[in-house]
Amino acid sequence: MTDNLTPEQRTKNMKAITSVSKLEDAVCSELWRRGWRCRRNVKNLKGKPDIAVKKYKAAVFIDSCFWHVCPLHSNIPKTNREFWEAKLARNQERDREVNEQRGRHLVSIV
Ligand SMILES: [Zn+2]
Repeated sequence: MTDNLTPEQRTKNMKAITSVSKLEDAVCSELWRRGWRCRRNVKNLKGKPDIAVKKYKAAVFIDSCFWHVCPLHSNIPKTNREFWEAKLARNQERDREVNEQRGRHLVSIV
């Protein structure tokens, strides 16, 4: 598979992905510690929440700054600009749909 990103972009991209996974892990293990039996990446729920707590019918979405175009930290790569703008716009559209359907409460961790 050829990589369509420059090495710098790839590094940044992988760091962003890793940090979100780590954050999800941290949130999930803290919930378990407090006795909330949660599951990760629940595919059969609308919007595929990152964490779901069945007992409380709660879905947790951890939206990363990069993939969900955070107004404070969004940073669209300068190369392949059109590709990234289209991709991130689709993410935002999906987020809007999920937010409308599920009544999401937004909590920002900066
Ligand atoms: Zn942010």
